[in-house]
Amino acid sequence: MTEIKLIFDEPVQKKKAPKHIADLSPAERKEWAKELGFQPFRASQVATHYFTHLSNTPAEWSDIPADQREAIAEALTPKLIELVTTRTTDGGMTRKDLWKLHDGTLVESVLMRYSDRVTVCISSQAGCGMNCPFCATGQAGLTRNLTAGEITEQIVAAARACADGELPGGPTRLSNIVFMGMGEPLANYNAVVRTLHNITDPNPDGLGISARSVTVSTVGLVNGIEKLMDEGINCTLAVSLHTPDDELRNTLVPINNRFNVREVLTAADAYEKKTGRRYSIEYALIRDINDQSWRSDLLGRLLKNRNAHVNLIPLNPTPGSKWTASRREDEAEFVRILESYGVPVTVRDTRGREIDGACGQLAAAEKGKE
Ligand code: SAH
Repeated sequence: MTEIKLIFDEPVQKKKAPKHIADLSPAERKEWAKELGFQPFRASQVATHYFTHLSNTPAEWSDIPADQREAIAEALTPKLIELVTTRTTDGGMTRKDLWKLHDGTLVESVLMRYSDRVTVCISSQAGCGMNCPFCATGQAGLTRNLTAGEITEQIVAAARACADGELPGGPTRLSNIVFMGMGEPLANYNAVVRTLHNITDPNPDGLGISARSVTVSTVGLVNGIEKLMDEGINCTLAVSLHTPDDELRNTLVPINNRFNVREVLTAADAYEKKTGRRYSIEYALIRDINDQSWRSDLLGRLLKNRNAHVNLIPLNPTPGSKWTASRREDEAEFVRILESYGVPVTVRDTRGREIDGACGQLAAAEKGKE
């Protein structure tokens, strides 16, 4: 494990994040450039440098007059995230970055290179208000929503790291994005939807990454799922179910008291119908809490006629937690029962554990040092 320390201890400011073209639609970007006294087409030139060339070197933006480059770049693409630490593992194939925002807030993203793809896991909020007791982010509560610019910057930084050959194996392209870092994406709806456009819009308006390679993971905010299916983005939906029964889910995912299992699955089905995308059910296996065979049986019965896939995640115990991952034999039995219902199931690999790779743990560790 390697750790690089870059910056620290800047005063905490309580002001809004600077505005960035990534906060705006292509039409709004032009309007904004005009308001700032630039020619409107400068906005799409800047977007091309930002999204297509992933360039943060305005000196090279040769289609903009040399004496205006810095001012235009600073106005339209201010730096919103600053690297605090990077930790790597798996011989550099997994890398976790801790970012500091303009007001001192910390968020994290994880970049993972596999044989056939490169995935970045990004944060949509600093902290989280959903209060799931097994999740490190949930323990600290919500600090604030990120802006679309702050979310997009994590993705552009990852794309740049890939293009620049920072991961072993040489230059590559960022292929997948998962909203599985800190925060509940559907509780920061507008910024997340703007980000989804930034990801999927073709160049020069966005990164031109296929929506099928983008996964929004949610605790199951039914109103958010219903709204998202009408955006025409058609990204993949992942629902953090963690148990098929309301009684336990009321404690594991407290928002279940508002939107229960039946309502969440109904919304996910509607999403699947509208978008044609099979959805994922996320299920963190917690020893003797939600890993009993009767629960697998109930889950199998719930899902057998649905177009869903189950992603089992061995619990990554958070510091001080009394819970731990399931025994191997219980996990195997859980899988066997689900498969007996014909439900597709995978067990997630546990990349990045040694670098506090799971949800909120790096930021929590960093805060603990202060
Ligand atoms: N708020 C979103 C994104 C959270 S992180 C959501 O709840 O879906 C992505 C996944 O990691 C979620 O399924 C979350 O429940 C799970 N997770 C959080 N902490 C975990 C832990 N300690 N071990 C295993 N999975 C965890």
